[in-house]
Amino acid sequence: MSRTAAEMRYVSTRSRHKNRQSLGFADVLLGGLAIDGGLYVPEFIPELAKRLTSPSDSLSYVEVAACVLEPYLSDAIGRDELLSLLVDAYRAFDHRDVCGLVALDDDHWLLELFYGPTLAFKDIALQVVARLFDHELERRNDSAMIVAATSGDTGSAAMKAVAGRERLDIVVLYPKGRTSEIQRRQMTTLDAPNVHAVAVDGTFDNCQDLVKAMFADETFRGDMRLAAVNSINWARVATQIVYYVWAASRLAEDGRPITFCVPTGNFGNVLAAHYASRMGLRIGRLLVASNSNDILSRLLENGELAAHEVIPTLSPSMDIQISSNLERLLFELCDSDGAATAALLARFRADGRVELTKQQHQRLREEFAGDRLDDPATLEVMRHVYAESKMLIDPHTAVGVGVAERCRQPGELMVSLATAHPAKFPEAVARATSQAPDPPTALASVVNQPERSISLPNDITAIKEFVRSAQLI
Ligand SMILES: *Cc1c(COP(=O)(O)O)cnc(C)c1O
Repeated sequence: MSRTAAEMRYVSTRSRHKNRQSLGFADVLLGGLAIDGGLYVPEFIPELAKRLTSPSDSLSYVEVAACVLEPYLSDAIGRDELLSLLVDAYRAFDHRDVCGLVALDDDHWLLELFYGPTLAFKDIALQVVARLFDHELERRNDSAMIVAATSGDTGSAAMKAVAGRERLDIVVLYPKGRTSEIQRRQMTTLDAPNVHAVAVDGTFDNCQDLVKAMFADETFRGDMRLAAVNSINWARVATQIVYYVWAASRLAEDGRPITFCVPTGNFGNVLAAHYASRMGLRIGRLLVASNSNDILSRLLENGELAAHEVIPTLSPSMDIQISSNLERLLFELCDSDGAATAALLARFRADGRVELTKQQHQRLREEFAGDRLDDPATLEVMRHVYAESKMLIDPHTAVGVGVAERCRQPGELMVSLATAHPAKFPEAVARATSQAPDPPTALASVVNQPERSISLPNDITAIKEFVRSAQLI
């Protein structure tokens, strides 16, 4: 039996097989996290259309996006509406193809994902997701309060995408003092009454726990009409599948599979590559690149998920120990057994560590490899890339490029993801290269504007109170 787009349903990674409830795309979009605390995953993986798997220079980014996304959207939006939504979302991007592809050498490419309004790859998904929210809320004649935790880049990208939208409010929690100056300013200088930045006394993981706690409170969740745009939101993962498919359509001329190297924090970006692969894209290996917060590289090495303290690094958007999107992959490693997934995660929560079975570890390693780069090694990569090619790269991108170079095999076609514009992290760029990256116009407006932010303790009651008050503004 062939299944059509309208039939796409989603289940929670923690739901039991028996009488498993499933939802359509629109409910998953607005719901974010499932009621049982799990993450939504599609019930089946659609196959990529043939024209997306053969090399083509003629397909535009927006066309690729429409083809990739359509089977995931149930009947939430029509094809023509989707196309115009995508055109509108990417109109302001500072690259005619939305993303850039530049060669580092014959077999190593940089996929530049930072041409959106906040200069990090998160714009690519969030500009679309905010519009999908609007579209659905309009249809329901409803509104929503988005709450999000950010280690730096999600917050500004989400606030920028939501600013001024009539049916949406947003409260973003960020770890006080742990984002870069520019990241903070991008959040605190936005002048729109429906966007709020909150500095929390704590780490990113604390912020993420606060968001999860708000969602776990069903009354609060219902009263506030809470919605999530964190990378746990399926719509974001789906939107990120697109650039893997687009890049492959531009590079796959000689039929070689592509190895993607992805600088990783919450595991959302590299997970999208995993889905691209499951949809039929010719992917060789997926390289997971970590900074000193290396829980994922350790998991790949020894099959044990073990949390350590978060270490602040030059790549703050990857300063994460608990990569929430990993749950979707663990669910697959548990053969889609929600009870087993929930048990695994409960053990991890209780003990701070949990071991995969030998078989699970092996399956993981068949698809993924990876490594870590500490700050000195990251600076060295930035220096080296500048010396070789006169190109400035940001520290997150450098972690990826460094790991790609280390893991590279002869003849392998490698694409490293450039996740932020170098001008977003000028101190690190200057330290490595003594160069000051040219600030794009998008940055000019945040430098001298007054900041608007509130400080709150790492305390769920205080946070909830603020969210309640924000809704009334
Ligand atoms: C968010 C972010 C990452 C990590 O992406 P995940 O999807 O969380 O793995 C890497 N680099 C930059 C610049 C980011 O903003």
